[in-house]
Amino acid sequence: MDAPIFDPRAFRLSPLEADLTTRAREFGARVLAPRAARWDREATFPMDNYRDMHREGWLGVCIPTADGGLGADFRAYCLTAAELGRYCGATALTWNMHVCSTLWTGVLTDDLEMPADVRAQHHARRLVHYKRILEDGAIYSQPFSEGGAAAAGTIAFGTTATKVEGGWTINGKKIFASLAGHADFYGVLCTDVTDGTSSRRNTLYMAVPATAPGVTVEGEWDPLGMRGTVSRNLLFKDVFVPDDAALMPGGLYFQAASRWPHMFMTLTPTYMGLAQAAYDFTVRYLRGEQPGTPPVKRRMYPTKQIAVAEMRVMLEQTKALWFQAISEACADPGRDSMLRALAAQHTVMENANSLAAKAVRTCGGQSMLKSLPLERIYRDSRCGSLMLPWTAEICIDRLGRETLYERGETDE
Ligand SMILES: Cc1cc2nc3c(=O)[nH]c(=O)nc-3n(C[C@H](O)[C@H](O)[C@H](O)COP(=O)(O)OP(=O)(O)OC[C@H]3O[C@@H](n4cnc5c(N)ncnc54)[C@H](O)[C@@H]3O)c2cc1C
Repeated sequence: MDAPIFDPRAFRLSPLEADLTTRAREFGARVLAPRAARWDREATFPMDNYRDMHREGWLGVCIPTADGGLGADFRAYCLTAAELGRYCGATALTWNMHVCSTLWTGVLTDDLEMPADVRAQHHARRLVHYKRILEDGAIYSQPFSEGGAAAAGTIAFGTTATKVEGGWTINGKKIFASLAGHADFYGVLCTDVTDGTSSRRNTLYMAVPATAPGVTVEGEWDPLGMRGTVSRNLLFKDVFVPDDAALMPGGLYFQAASRWPHMFMTLTPTYMGLAQAAYDFTVRYLRGEQPGTPPVKRRMYPTKQIAVAEMRVMLEQTKALWFQAISEACADPGRDSMLRALAAQHTVMENANSLAAKAVRTCGGQSMLKSLPLERIYRDSRCGSLMLPWTAEICIDRLGRETLYERGETDE
């Protein structure tokens, strides 16, 4: 087995984290790695992986143990997901969308404020979703991108929900909706416009059944990387969902996004795993130990040794900052924690691709053949810095502004 990305002793992992990451590493190597090339080549959704993930409990990784899940908190999830991303980026990224429907409704909302009766209703409702996941293997997705400024968090979502008798009517369009056509429920972020206004404070998070009348999937999915995510367009035309489709009580998503900002870091573990995978490949290749290649050693050349040393420096820097940032995740983080989260997000997303590019340059022409995983890792890693709401550009934009200006400060 590969060595852990975060050694339990060195990084002082909790027993649960040590157990989950070990199992994820074993699962990734055994189940995900052998199939990864297929999803990528065909741009098809890794359904076989999801069946196996259901069988082995991974769909409920963040469902509380009291409700039958594995009980991972934010950090335990991130560390576990990084191990899966190491073996199949597309599976880890789509699994992240699914897991967020349980992490955000679970440990994250437990940290937020709501009246006791609202909390009791929320717990009763989330249990319905958790049961579907654990018992039936239901898969949830998380479409929030719309092609405008909403996914960056600056304006209200254009997808709307209007209150009707016994539920809501949903209308709108989502783009880049990973798992489109394969998820059983789409965890849609939309704006309650019942009173005629459109405000981010009125964001709702609704589980829309894929089979509900008025839900359609359209468009092609033939991208550069992460081809197995099948992120097509989703259309909602007068879709009725009952009241208990709410994954969070009204107003809670806005509170979560404002008070628990690390929730947006959940896209990084996949890319932390890909960064490690690019490094692992390079070491194996230069030692003449990469399966599928002749046992030719290239490690004796000083240029190779320098390249690997530089990659190790970058990998250690990436791991250290990311580990610190995910360890700090909590409600109402301080200003430095917030800035560190943005710096970590930027670092992981950019460095994963830098490491993959360096791996190709260092290992050489034979290493970028499609018969080897590095070529896919290189393409998949390119997608990380494009993920809203914290793209690499937005991280830089916010880091500069929020470092130089205190909250509410202007130059007037
Ligand atoms: C493989 C993959 C899977 C995905 N899966 C999902 C999914 O499951 N669900 C989902 O909701 N989305 C998903 N996305 C979508 C992703 O989050 C983006 O919405 C998507 O990349 C489209 O971005 P865009 O080109 O429309 O961005 P645009 O909004 O056009 O922005 C272009 C660039 O401009 C910059 N920018 C945008 N707004 C601002 C701002 N306010 N300030 C400063 N800079 C800004 C950003 O750097 C951004 O990258 C996925 C994307 C990929 C690549």
